[in-house]
Amino acid sequence: MITLQNYINGELIAPVSGAYLSNTNPATGEVFSECPDSDERDVDLAYVAAENAFEQWSNTPAEKRGRIMLKISELLERDLQLFAEAETTDQGKPLWLSKNGEIPRAISNIRFFGTAIEHFSSEAHPMGNHAINYTLRSPIGVVGCISPWNLPLYLFTWKIAPALATGNCVVAKPSEITPYTAYLFSKICIEAGLPPGVLNIVHGLGHKVGSAITSHPSIKAISFTGGTKTGAEIAKVAAPMFKKLSLELGGKNPNIIFADCDFEAMLAETVRSSFLNQGEICLCGSRIFIERSIYDKFKSAFVEKVKTELVVGDPMNPKTKTGAIVSKAHFEKVLSYIELAKQEGGTVLCGGEVVKPDGVCANGWFIAPTIIEGLPYTCRTNQEEIFGPVVTLSPFDTEEEVLKMANSTEYGLAATIWTQDVTKAHRVAQLVKSGIVWINCWLLRDLRTPFGGVKSSGVGREGGLEALRFFTEAKNICVKL
Ligand code: NDP
Repeated sequence: MITLQNYINGELIAPVSGAYLSNTNPATGEVFSECPDSDERDVDLAYVAAENAFEQWSNTPAEKRGRIMLKISELLERDLQLFAEAETTDQGKPLWLSKNGEIPRAISNIRFFGTAIEHFSSEAHPMGNHAINYTLRSPIGVVGCISPWNLPLYLFTWKIAPALATGNCVVAKPSEITPYTAYLFSKICIEAGLPPGVLNIVHGLGHKVGSAITSHPSIKAISFTGGTKTGAEIAKVAAPMFKKLSLELGGKNPNIIFADCDFEAMLAETVRSSFLNQGEICLCGSRIFIERSIYDKFKSAFVEKVKTELVVGDPMNPKTKTGAIVSKAHFEKVLSYIELAKQEGGTVLCGGEVVKPDGVCANGWFIAPTIIEGLPYTCRTNQEEIFGPVVTLSPFDTEEEVLKMANSTEYGLAATIWTQDVTKAHRVAQLVKSGIVWINCWLLRDLRTPFGGVKSSGVGREGGLEALRFFTEAKNICVKL
């Protein structure tokens, strides 16, 4: 049994309560570690440490802050295998995905912002020969970063890296469902020489630790990624305190497939965009709209490919393509949506059932990749976020019709468009209501681009300059000449 600790003021310490939560490996159903059940007392300790560290960290030259971050990224790279195994044990995703996707991306996040800060600049606005304005961008102070369980270290580092690079001190809370890699990360921060108090990681439940961070009167900004409902709760608490808020929330992303697409490229990528990471990526396309003339061809090729290629089972096995669902509660939620889809009149074309692998994973939480057709676009299955290995297929006849269906949900995070017609691609991309559109690709990420959603998918943007600006306060200074 591994006992995780909070990382406060540069040290690994037990929670004030002395209580721990059980942390389960979703592939085996066995408890493998215990995670601090922290509360507002731990958040207070973390805040005081962060506040004490702020003066020195914010005045440390950007180049030196960046160098410490680069050291952290190097150590993460050195321990890639350890981190990948930890992430897979904790989250259930296949090991190859942790090793080639999640942890390398966490390394890139730290490296990207550790170097970006050296190129960060602010504006000057001259007013002829009357005056000149220049803008100072200063760190905010102590900020809160709260991250979810689907891409644990990837999203954790995506938040803390720009916060630290810009000179803020951080109180961070990873999801208590997947706390393991954030704990290992705190050890690396100590080894890399990150000054005590600059980053503090408080483990525990959302309604205790998360809400203590959001309601803390002196934590000035909150960067949150998670569900829309939680985002609304956070906004309710933080908005009257005039905190800066960045909310990256849920999605119900459309994949729009026109008959003139490159069929093979589209098919391969649509399998990935539907089921990678068990469909537990906020950017996965869960509603697939197919132009009617290729609907049957697509349906049979897609079902065949998913059935033959997406081997479900032990995430540690290199042949596995689909691992375990992150928790029992989420497993039950996904299954309940499959039942709902049937009640709503849907036909399950493949999957839809629990998978019980032999051996060590016999008690894990596995669901076969599930494809459903025959549902109206307005039904709950097509409107609510499932966040699992479940997609629906719907035919369309015109651009107007598909845009109506694609834009019909409360969400607006990402969309994918497949066509060889350049003009149509741009036209549809402009009319889809989402923060991110991929044309003839999916999840092709450049960390400099703005990342985030519209409508109930969030407020604000992450990535590149957007993140550096979020974590700084702008002050305009006007000098009369
Ligand atoms: P949740 O909203 O349940 O939790 C996210 C984080 O917030 C967790 O650390 C959670 O702690 C914490 N939390 C819960 N309640 C509160 C509260 N009242 N105050 C402060 N913090 C709180 O999301 P999930 O972890 O279930 O993640 C899945 C969701 O995340 C999906 O909706 C998905 O779409 C979204 N997501 C969005 C992304 C984006 O970029 N837009 C990217 C990835 C995921 P605890 O674990 O203890 O509940």
